[in-house]
Amino acid sequence: MSPGNLICDLDGVVYLGSRPIPGSARALTDLTAAGWNILMCTNNSTRSPTEVAERIHDVTGYRARPESILTSAQAAAFMLAPTKPRCFVLGGEGIVDALTAADIPVVGSAGDAEAVVVGLTTDLTYSWLREAVTAVFNGARLIATNLDSTYPTETGLWPGGGAIVAAVETATGVKAEPAGKPWPPMRELVAKYLVPGPVWIAGDRPDTDLALAEGTDWKTALVLSGVTSASVKVETAPDLVAPDLATVGRFLLERGNEEERL
Ligand SMILES: [Mg+2]
Repeated sequence: MSPGNLICDLDGVVYLGSRPIPGSARALTDLTAAGWNILMCTNNSTRSPTEVAERIHDVTGYRARPESILTSAQAAAFMLAPTKPRCFVLGGEGIVDALTAADIPVVGSAGDAEAVVVGLTTDLTYSWLREAVTAVFNGARLIATNLDSTYPTETGLWPGGGAIVAAVETATGVKAEPAGKPWPPMRELVAKYLVPGPVWIAGDRPDTDLALAEGTDWKTALVLSGVTSASVKVETAPDLVAPDLATVGRFLLERGNEEERL
């Protein structure tokens, strides 16, 4: 039997931009060796799970299985899978990949769209934004992969997927239905990949990563290696506050050993 599940955020937990966070790869390797079911859960919708796995390996050296990676693009596809509407994408290739993998048709113009899926893209243009807005005016559902206002990079905070969603919302007066953390589609998607045993979430953002645990008995670990510093006030106290994932890993492994002795 697995000692448990760890739902792990990436940016600010495993790496910071293209820099590894010291000890994160070792922690993931040790937990994997001990039988922990590790799921990498990211609100970044720009890359496919295979590309995310490559990035984790390139930056940290840890080999994550693409099947263990869940992105907000996949959460959006999961949300739309029952109805499979024709989707216009205002966002990165990761969204197109996720929709296609779920057999959801992707269309190239507003006229054909039954839903608009918005996420982060660094190639945003006015005409692309206008097409998305037109589709929503024509009655298409407005779906957001995530509502993160910013996107952390080594050169500082860039506008996040939420900033692009806000542009469509402002133009149309329509509120987007969000899919990623901390919203129910991502929670339901993650739940499908859990094995019996305790569930821990490790993340650097209380309002998205840790709030995913709302309404569940999942335990939360706030790590201070990303956007949150020790001085910040959080609404719901995490079960664990740790400087980094390495510390969370040691805590979970020691806890497992203690339970084995009981
Ligand atoms: Mg993060």
